[in-house]
Amino acid sequence: MNESTRETNTVESLKKRISEMENLLHANQMLCNILDPMELYSTLAGLIREKLKVSSICIFDYHPDIEKFELVYRHGLNDLGLTFNKNEGPLWQKILQKEPFPVNDNSGNPIFKEFSENHMLKELRSQWWIPFIMKEEVIGLLTIGEKDNAYPIDEVEFNYIKHIANQVSICINACTVNLKRQKERQELDKILQNLSLLYNIGRAMTYISDLKNLLQYILKKAVMITNAEKGSIMLLDPDTNRLLISVIEGLEDNDQQEKINNKQVTCKSFKPGEGVAGQVFQEAKPMVLNNIKGEDKFIEADSSFVRSIACIPMLVYNDAIGVINVTNKRDDEHFTEVDVEMLKAVTDQAAVAINKAQLREMAVTDFLTGLYIRRYFMSKLQDELLRSERYNKVFSIVMADIDKFKNVNDTYGHTAGDKVLKAVGDFFQTNIRQVDVVARYGGEEFVILFPETDKEAAYVLAERLRKGFSQIRLDNLPGLSISSGISTYPEDGKDIQTLIKNADTAMYSAKQKGRNKVVNFSKNMSLKTLKISVA
Ligand code: GH3
Ligand code: MG
Ligand code: MG
Repeated sequence: MNESTRETNTVESLKKRISEMENLLHANQMLCNILDPMELYSTLAGLIREKLKVSSICIFDYHPDIEKFELVYRHGLNDLGLTFNKNEGPLWQKILQKEPFPVNDNSGNPIFKEFSENHMLKELRSQWWIPFIMKEEVIGLLTIGEKDNAYPIDEVEFNYIKHIANQVSICINACTVNLKRQKERQELDKILQNLSLLYNIGRAMTYISDLKNLLQYILKKAVMITNAEKGSIMLLDPDTNRLLISVIEGLEDNDQQEKINNKQVTCKSFKPGEGVAGQVFQEAKPMVLNNIKGEDKFIEADSSFVRSIACIPMLVYNDAIGVINVTNKRDDEHFTEVDVEMLKAVTDQAAVAINKAQLREMAVTDFLTGLYIRRYFMSKLQDELLRSERYNKVFSIVMADIDKFKNVNDTYGHTAGDKVLKAVGDFFQTNIRQVDVVARYGGEEFVILFPETDKEAAYVLAERLRKGFSQIRLDNLPGLSISSGISTYPEDGKDIQTLIKNADTAMYSAKQKGRNKVVNFSKNMSLKTLKISVA
């Protein structure tokens, strides 16, 4: 070889080296700023295919916690969903040597016969396996298939792959750090969001004074913040010493949910200590069961399916007044410690607000019938009058008195009479609209406020109640009836006392007409009454 040929060769080889270096630089630039793992893998695969023209490429992630390799990227292969673990003895050892290796020997036979016979090598159609190494640890694996021209991978190509595999290892690490940061940021955001949510819930609670609305509001929020499908609030009934469902949320059967929330149907109740709710109540400690199957603690309270439950006691000055349950975390996830902490924070505020509302309700409800007492009704009536005055609306009130009720007491005893009064209270409560207000006005006299209802409409409603009432049958008692009188704002009175007095007059007129009737107030009626009383 003469001097000039040697020089030409050196120049050629230098040019080749420069071109290789340029390729590597180009690859580095492509890879180094990628922070998304999937983008990283597809860029890596693109670079290898461009350079080597190989048919298949796979990338595996290594999960040190479960000691498994999991297929996370594939090109040129069908969906494999492949993982492998320590059981693949010699292969596993080979990977842990942290050096690239061919999977077939010189004559094309697989080195890892057992693994190959499990079809995986065959399915992978790979020639070379290249571990990704970071800080002396294997963090992943790259497998490369045959070149399209079926030539073996040469030294230059091999070096190229080795180099970019190193670069990818660094990038994988950057991706992991980035993902961790993102997750931390999301968690912080969530905490901030939760704090502001708690603040808003706390504020809203102070504005809601009605117990039912308060319970529904609290439960809705509890279900929302824990991302649960359903929930219920159970309160201790001091009369029976049992936990009863007060409100329920998220049932598929909306009608059933309405009925439970309106107390038209009763669900299973629990003794303190019984079931999850009973135990949480008794021990005043939250409980989470993320896999209900086979839990004997759990007793179904409604017929719907329950997978997981978080149950939190509601404490007022260390005394439990009930529990909040949330069930079935969405997306098959588990209730977490954060869920429990959030629920506890809501529940602590809720318990005090509920307790206050309960006391308020006790002060304004009649013990026997559960209806509002007269004093509270009158204040509601006054509110409605002011509202109607301002907005130029009408409303009606209906006075209803049980006919010949004295006979029930006289014939069947006072206890039977009480039972009838309670049944009558339930009947009215369940047969009026949510906006209507019913109260026990006196002994066996009831009064109902129908907002935005004129005389004719009120008559229809009162007639419906009269008829419905006459159909009630209580065990061993004869059928009963009511007589009702109606007065309407503003035509029958512009203040609440006059309206009540006139409804009462109309009711007495119904009695005079033979009972079991509804009568609208009219002006000459009051004249007649006046005449009678004067005479
Ligand atoms: P009318 O058709 O004229 O209304 O006849 P009545 O018998 O219903 O009327 P009256 O006013 O004479 O009697 C009402 C009875 O209601 C008298 C009282 O003993 C009974 N009563 C009032 N409050 C209660 C109660 O809390 N429990 C029971 N058991 N009875 C009550
Ligand atoms: Mg009566
Ligand atoms: Mg009476």
